[in-house]
Amino acid sequence: MHITMKQVTYTDSRGLDTSRPTFSEVVVRGIAPGGGLYVPESLPSFALPEILELAEWPYWRRAAAVFSRFGVDFCAEHVDALMQSAYGAQWDDERIAPVVEVVAGIHVLELWHGPTSAFKDMALQCMPLFFSAAVDKMQASGELADDYLVLVATSGDTGKAALEGFADRDHTSIVVFYPAGGVSDIQRLQMVTQRGGNVGVFGVLGNFDDCQNAVKAAFNDQAFNAELHGERHLKLSSANSINWGRLLPQIAYYVSAYADMVAEGGVKPGSPMDVCVPTGNFGNILGAYYAKRIGVPIGRLLCASNENNVLADFISTGTYDISSRVFVTTPSPSMDILISSNLERLLYELAGAEAVRGWMASLAAERRFTVDRETFAAVRELLTADWVTNDESLATIGRVYAERGYLMDPHTAVAWEVAERLRGEDPVLVVSTAHWAKFGTDVFKALTQTAYDAPLPKGADSLSGLELLDEVRRIAPNAGSVPTPLAEIAVLPERFGEVADAGREGIEAAVRGWLER
Ligand SMILES: *Cc1c(COP(=O)(O)O)cnc(C)c1O
Repeated sequence: MHITMKQVTYTDSRGLDTSRPTFSEVVVRGIAPGGGLYVPESLPSFALPEILELAEWPYWRRAAAVFSRFGVDFCAEHVDALMQSAYGAQWDDERIAPVVEVVAGIHVLELWHGPTSAFKDMALQCMPLFFSAAVDKMQASGELADDYLVLVATSGDTGKAALEGFADRDHTSIVVFYPAGGVSDIQRLQMVTQRGGNVGVFGVLGNFDDCQNAVKAAFNDQAFNAELHGERHLKLSSANSINWGRLLPQIAYYVSAYADMVAEGGVKPGSPMDVCVPTGNFGNILGAYYAKRIGVPIGRLLCASNENNVLADFISTGTYDISSRVFVTTPSPSMDILISSNLERLLYELAGAEAVRGWMASLAAERRFTVDRETFAAVRELLTADWVTNDESLATIGRVYAERGYLMDPHTAVAWEVAERLRGEDPVLVVSTAHWAKFGTDVFKALTQTAYDAPLPKGADSLSGLELLDEVRRIAPNAGSVPTPLAEIAVLPERFGEVADAGREGIEAAVRGWLER
């Protein structure tokens, strides 16, 4: 029997798209025409017993329950099948997103058991399957004749997670651009050893900004789009973190985590837990916000920033201001951001599309905006924020390991430190976004009390990325093993060594060359 739930249609945060697309349409489109972000027109709700029941189910079934409740336009059997392959044997813990109690009252939600050892896998093991299924469905109905080429500019984590998610998926191919010399040794190896017949990887002669601007320019180049469409029946897509298809899986793990917290005795059924999230683009913490809206007993949303603390400032002042902000380098590079794109969705939920249009226009023109008093009060009601310096985050790694034998990566450490500062009566769920081995150099500095800006201590300064991981395990015996896909990258063949020129022409030439391969 095919049970089809009520389909939910979407609107956008700036109120400019009135076409009322379905889930599969918004996944394929990514951003709305006019620049807004897609949001569901109505939100579902879960009753407490329905949430608690999830604790008895495998993770894939929990995620399927959340997707179906959100009215995705696929039948329940199809959602189940996609979820079983998204959250299957490629994860190194069958619980997928386990909750671990590290100190009484502080629990860690580990989101890095996937194939690339970072939380991006939670969304990117799932979303490409729905993307591919959505294209399939549109082609079958005659709505669409093309396949998709996904272009990604990455500063490290996203590129690998997207490659792994899209590798060998039907109707899609993916080309990733990273700044040559601007990613860690391990991050580069993770990308250039990627398997799959539909993937390409290029270093770009420039920094991450150059990469991103060049990829954006290629997207906006009408002639290039027409050429791909005319000669190859390809459309471009970006699959970036503002895609609703990446957000929905991030709601699912908060619902799942609350069920686990109750089952493990960390919180009484129905009592609130606070959630503390290391935040960059506001995507992960937005998942927690929506989970709260649909009925998960979440108390405060604790927003943890690194030295790029524009969000912490916004939450304490009501003004988002990047007009004179400088971008800082930190040991938590995946949170190094100035424009926190997904904040727009929260502002939409609190103040509506008209207000968002004004604020986004002001952000584009003056690099700042200030929300009205009522919206600011609503922000303060929901969110509490703090931020952590580079050296504080490394000190936290060292201290928590020394006291508890639990080794964290620098992103998680930002959240841990903020959780300790801001915690109240309720238990806190600290969201852990990467395995420590992804950021071995800074973890090694943390364990040897080396300052973030200082070089590695003598003896360690000549070690390669992987050798340094062995060194970490030697000085931190409780660290656990290095995830197999990371440990094995040194022996995999490097498939991609090509370098592209920065700028639109460089990116386009690289894509053309790759398509001719
Ligand atoms: C992407 C990322 C983050 C930031 O997540 P947002 O959704 O952008 O807030 C934090 N930690 C790690 C390890 C990441 O890869």
